[in-house]
Order: sequence, then structure tokens, then C-alpha cells
Amino acid sequence: MGVLVCCDCFFYRKSKTKPNGKKPPAEEKKQYLEAEFTKVRVVDFDLKELVVLPREIDLNEWLASNTTTFFNLINLQYSTISEFCTGDTCQAMTACNTIYYWYDERGKKTKCTAPQYVDFVMSLVQKLVTDEDIFPTKYGKEFPNSFESLVKKICRYLFHVLAHLYWAHFKETVALDLQGHLNTLYAHFIVFVREFNLVDPKETCIMDDLSEILCAPAPPAPAAPSSPAPSPSSHNHVTER
Ligand SMILES: [Zn+2]
Repeated sequence: MGVLVCCDCFFYRKSKTKPNGKKPPAEEKKQYLEAEFTKVRVVDFDLKELVVLPREIDLNEWLASNTTTFFNLINLQYSTISEFCTGDTCQAMTACNTIYYWYDERGKKTKCTAPQYVDFVMSLVQKLVTDEDIFPTKYGKEFPNSFESLVKKICRYLFHVLAHLYWAHFKETVALDLQGHLNTLYAHFIVFVREFNLVDPKETCIMDDLSEILCAPAPPAPAAPSSPAPSPSSHNHVTER
């Protein structure tokens, strides 16, 4: 199939020559786009139906409940390969041609390893979803005005973790036979954030090739055409976020 090889960014080329003899953490090609793997799911029903706001349920309650669930599931999925995501194997938080930098509470940009970045994400999200003033669980307690923007922030960070799982740890996920869970979790998450416009498409576009396959209503034929080629400007350079 038409695999887009636009992501052999310098980071991995450089890491290949590392003296410790370890293999680079990512595949040369996007193994996760191969039909053999994309067809593996743990559910086969329409995810769109699952994410639509049910009648009689408050929008914020729905966002809160789903966001908390995605946080727990993505944390769990990452934990299955976390022993392979180390400061050596993943010296930066990468996904395709993007390196994510962490911005601390004062907005200071920090370059960190992937496990550090994931730890920052999980700690921050844990703090937010257990804060009774932000994710209220008691009857009658109001959501804050900043609720939607915080949910968006959480979803953006969770997307980074999912993208890193595919980009750097898909092989290990397959070795553990957990690709069906990852595919289902990813597709459910993408359909959800699209439904409520929670993550900027400019953020998720690096994974559009996979999203189009996994979020398609019916399983794609093996020879399905690939998504359109990215613009020339997206080739061979590393984006910083
Ligand atoms: Zn990693």
C-alpha cells in the first residue's frame, strides 16, 4: 500500500549511529498503517454513536466522564510499553516529524525525554481530573468557566501520548498483542475529539493517515488508497510544538 515515508526525521537517523548499539525506537516505515494491523480492533460497532452526547446528559458531564476515561485508558495503554520508553530509547517526545516540548506552569519551554514528557502529562491530568473545583463530582456543583479549555488542553496532551505510542512503540505493542486495544482506543478518542472539536486539526494532522483508516465507518479494503500526500513543506523537517 502507499505508505507515506515522510517521517524519517533527523532524530532517528542520528539515533541509529548511537554507540550503545540500540536500535532506533521507531520503524522506518509506518508499520501501524499496514492493513494487517489496522484491521485489528476489539470492537466493530460505530464509534460515532458511542461519542454523541446522549439526550438528558449535560454536555460538561459527558466531556468530564469521557476525558477521565480516556486519561485512564491511555495511561494504562502506555504502561504496557513504558519499560521500553526510556531516556535512551526516546531522548525526545517524538511523533512523526514532530518533537513536543514541555511548557511548565510559567510557560518556560523545556526539552525533555519522552518518559519525562509522558510523566508531566499524566501528573498534570491526574491533578486536574481529581480537582473537585474543575471536575466536580458532587451533585449541584458547577463546572468552572475554564472547563472546556482545560478539557481541550488535556485532550491535546493525551493525543501526544497516543501519537508517540504509534510512532515509537508500535512494534512492542504488536509483540504484546495489544494493537487491537490501541487501535480501538485511538479511533474512539479521535472520533470523540472531532465530535466536540477538542483538539485543533493542525495538531492531529500528523496522524491523519491512520485516523482516516481507523475512523472509517467500515473496515477498509486492503488496497484502499492512501490519504493525500502532505504538502512539500511538511517533508524532512522537524516541527517544534
Ligand atoms: Zn517512547
